[in-house]
Amino acid sequence: MCYAIPGKLVEIKKSIGIVDYFGEKKNVLIDYSNVKIGDYVYAQGGVLVSVISEREALEILETWKELFFELKRTDEKLARIETIPASKNLLSILQKVNLNKALKREELHSLLALSGKNDLRLMYETANNIRQKTHGNACCVHGILEFSNVCESNCFYCGIRKEKTLQRYRMSIKEIIDTARYAVKELGFKALVLQSGEDNWYTIEKLEKIVRAVRKLGILVFLSIGLRDKPTYKRLYEAGARAALLRFETSNANTFKTLRPGTTLEERLEIIRYIKDLGFVLATGFIAGLPGETSEDVINNILLAKSLKPEMYSFGPFIPAQGTPLENQSLLHKDAMLKIIALSRLTDKDSNILVTTAFETLDAKAKREGLLAGANSLMINITPKKYRDFYSIYDKRINIDLQKNVKETIALLHSLGRAPTDLGI
Ligand code: SF4
Repeated sequence: MCYAIPGKLVEIKKSIGIVDYFGEKKNVLIDYSNVKIGDYVYAQGGVLVSVISEREALEILETWKELFFELKRTDEKLARIETIPASKNLLSILQKVNLNKALKREELHSLLALSGKNDLRLMYETANNIRQKTHGNACCVHGILEFSNVCESNCFYCGIRKEKTLQRYRMSIKEIIDTARYAVKELGFKALVLQSGEDNWYTIEKLEKIVRAVRKLGILVFLSIGLRDKPTYKRLYEAGARAALLRFETSNANTFKTLRPGTTLEERLEIIRYIKDLGFVLATGFIAGLPGETSEDVINNILLAKSLKPEMYSFGPFIPAQGTPLENQSLLHKDAMLKIIALSRLTDKDSNILVTTAFETLDAKAKREGLLAGANSLMINITPKKYRDFYSIYDKRINIDLQKNVKETIALLHSLGRAPTDLGI
């Protein structure tokens, strides 16, 4: 199985390369020294990650050739906007979007408040149509490896917070590297997210060792290790990590202070901005549906995410975890998540938007519906089965067999006409 296809590097302008996938061009960042025009390469998250031989590339491309154009046609068909009756107000807002005009705050509120079946459908269709026009049918699939559920923080909403009684695990450096190697060599992943609680047992030196070894597999190393200091992120960039996920969680500074004792929103935003400035591909976003959240908070969350200029948006629904201070709070409705995905696409056409594993837990159809509401990226959990249940950041996490998950995800992407070309920058 391989859900990534190589492209041909056809142009290099300083640190930006243009990669051709069956005539479709994507811009990628190049910091790979031994690369030249004419090479066949893999890119992930807009970063060129490895070069492969022409013979191998042509063999792979031959198997994709027909399928690629078939997928493209399917995507174009599914991304058409159907003419359905919708409210006048919605039509005039969507017209503004199509004219590339920025939406006013009250217009964002109107979109967020939509409830009519037709209105919602039209908003999701428009977001999907914009996604297709901007990115074509490219869709990236990253693997996520949760290598430690130990955390020194005590976030109220999190099921692996320090004070929670829970079976803890830490994967050894060897186990992490072996799991990554299996995901790359046997399953074909070209990007892996290394995720953990804020666990300082993994010192900078240990993390560097892991990053160097995983990078040597010729893939994008994506960090999700929480709030670490600037020197840690800097050294891990130097070790070869090129993407980092750090959500700001909520734009409401008071809610942030209450739910994440001992830290502030400003402090977190400073590290997020620093990560971006270092050159990491930045993934950020927020938790939707935290207790007390107002619609003004949601709009502020969307606008704050946009202002951070991330290469990827990551929105997780709040799902209560047993044994936490928020265990009795209510679950978010699926439509609230779909609206956030669609609104983010409507306010930032170029964005790459992830359907998170948390959203998949909230609703079995999340992957499909999220991808049809403007999203264009997925993650598959590759954590070894024996640990997966203990990374219980929220309850009822889906825990399906990895091979089965990969197979079902590919089948879904094929049914939606999405191809594993890079999203580009
Ligand atoms: S949200 Fe992150 S930092 Fe907070 S307790 Fe959970 S794992 Fe730790």
